[in-house]
Formats: sequence, structure tokens, C-alpha cells
Amino acid sequence: RAKTQGRRSYNFYTRELDQQLQDRMQLEQAMRLGLENQEFYLCYQPRVELSTGRIMSLEALVRWNHPQWGPVSPGRFIPLAEETGFILALGPEVLRLACLQIRQWDEQGMPVVPVAVNLSAREFHQPDILERTLSTLQQTGIEPGRIEFEITESAAMSSVERTIETLAQMNARGFHFSIDDFGTAYSSLNYLKRLPVQAIKIDQSFVLDLQDNPEQHPEDAAIIRAIIGLGHTLGLEVIAEGVETLAQREFLLEHGCRIGQGFLFSAAVPGERIQAMMLKQVEHPPR
Ligand code: C2E
Ligand code: MG
Ligand code: MG
Ligand code: MG
Repeated sequence: RAKTQGRRSYNFYTRELDQQLQDRMQLEQAMRLGLENQEFYLCYQPRVELSTGRIMSLEALVRWNHPQWGPVSPGRFIPLAEETGFILALGPEVLRLACLQIRQWDEQGMPVVPVAVNLSAREFHQPDILERTLSTLQQTGIEPGRIEFEITESAAMSSVERTIETLAQMNARGFHFSIDDFGTAYSSLNYLKRLPVQAIKIDQSFVLDLQDNPEQHPEDAAIIRAIIGLGHTLGLEVIAEGVETLAQREFLLEHGCRIGQGFLFSAAVPGERIQAMMLKQVEHPPR
């Protein structure tokens, strides 16, 4: 009995795995086709001055509308794209789209704000990443100073010496950098000190936990305070992600965090919406 049962569960297990594998292959194929068919586009989430709500910069976030499935979440396709290497094709398209959008905003006379683009570990660690990004910018006529790259803390943590060298080279050309999802990868402080970056972004998991009453989450509150203190000590801008409530905003302001992004202010929205928000801001400056 044990034997047949064992076999049955084995079969069940392989069928599950088969299904998962098939789903992944189907998703990967759909992504490749989607890139050809220009199904990917960008939305932009404002990063605001927490005290006034004024838009200081933007984060470009990729969106994918599949013709049959509808919107597919980046949380689902980006990890697969990173695993399979498809991100090396998608990443340049994201940067190109961001540059084209910046040019369009410029042409419409929108006030200049830096645009942050997410760079996955695999993209960042390509030996010719500087040449690749410069070539995209050249083709679209955008200066490096307009772009900030977000690399995750874990991406920045691997191949430390090379990372520092690449960051320094790209900095020298005018690119800015921030460390995304900070607090999730246990960076050594000694190492962080050596990273030529301009900002760190407090991972949203810490901020989201605060919700209504920070006092109910003393650990998250302590971590956030520590990251803010650390960032400022190192002369870095500190940006909080996942700000959804007034209580979170209060807490962050109280502890000296100047900039945040989150649903309290705005989700990621299409480029035209950003333009309208910026225009409104010029007409009625936030105080
Ligand atoms: P991330 O770079 O840390 O981006 C923040 C994510 O949090 C975004 O999800 C954003 O829409 C979401 N978010 C913003 N405000 C709030 C809030 O107040 N509450 C909550 N619960 N969530 C908020 P999204 O767009 O689904 O992207 C997820 C992740 O996918 C990103 O995390 C990033 O790692 C990756 N990703 C997105 N676009 C790109 C891209 O163009 N290139 C690369 N390499 N990765 C990307
Ligand atoms: Mg990001
Ligand atoms: Mg993040
Ligand atoms: Mg994140």
C-alpha cells in the first residue's frame, strides 16, 4: 500500500512541477512576444517632499498589458525575467521608454525632475553596462544627469569591489544611484560607507507595518529610525517607500525623513497624468 501511495504522490508531485514549468515557459514566451509587440510601457510614481507633497522626482515602473490576460504584475514577471535573462532585453527597452518620455515632457515644457529607473542585478553586473546605457541615452538625446538608477541592496552587495568601480564610473558620467529595498540584505555598514550612491530607499515592508500606529510596531519603528540616521550620517538622501497613511507620514517626518513615495500621494500613473500633476503644482505651489 505504502508503495502505491508513494507512487501516486510522486506522480502528483511531478504533474505539479510539470504544470509550474509549463506556466513559466508560457509566461517567458509571452514576454518575448510582448516585447516585440510593444506591450510593455512605463508608469511613473512621484517621490514627494513629505512635508508639502511637492513632487521631487519620479520612479519609472514597468507595466505589461497582455492582450488576453490583461495586466500582469511586475512582481510576477520581473523575477522570471531576471532568472531567464530576458531582463537583459527588457531593461534597455525600459530605459529607452523613460528617455523618450523625458524628451516628450521637455518638449511640452514640463519642469525638469529626475527620473529613477530600476536596474536589476543582472543588468547592473554586465561588464559593459556603462557603454550600453550611454548608447541608449545618446540615441534618445538625454543627458545622464536626468537619470537615477535604483539597484537593490542585494545587487549592490555582490561583487563588492566591482560594484564600487562600476558605480564610480557611472557617477563620473553623471548618473545618480539609489539603493532600493534597503534594510532587507544586511549590508555591512563598513561597505555601505564606501558605496558612491546618493540615496537609500527604506524598504516598504518596514513602512507598511507601521500603518496606523507606529507604537504597535517598535521593531519596525526602530529599524526605520536607524536607517534614517545611518543615511543622514553618510550624507545620503533617505527615501521612504510604501507610505500609505498619514500616521506613517507623520512618523517619518518626525524622525527626519524628507522624501517618500506611496499610495497616500499617488500610485504609479501614465506620463500624461504626471504632466497634469506637475502643471497643477506650478499653478498652485504646495506649502
Ligand atoms: P520596487 O522598485 O521596490 O518598486 C516599488 C513597488 O511598490 C512598485 O510595485 C510600486 O507600485 C509599489 N508601491 C508603491 N507605493 C506603494 C504603497 O504605498 N503601498 C504598496 N503596498 N505598494 C506600493 P510594482 O510596480 O509592482 O513593482 C514591483 C517590483 O518590480 C519593483 O519594486 C521592482 O523591483 C520591479 N520592477 C518594476 N519595474 C521595473 C523595471 O522597469 N525594471 C526592473 N529591473 N525592475 C522593475
Ligand atoms: Mg525601485
Ligand atoms: Mg523598492
Ligand atoms: Mg521593493
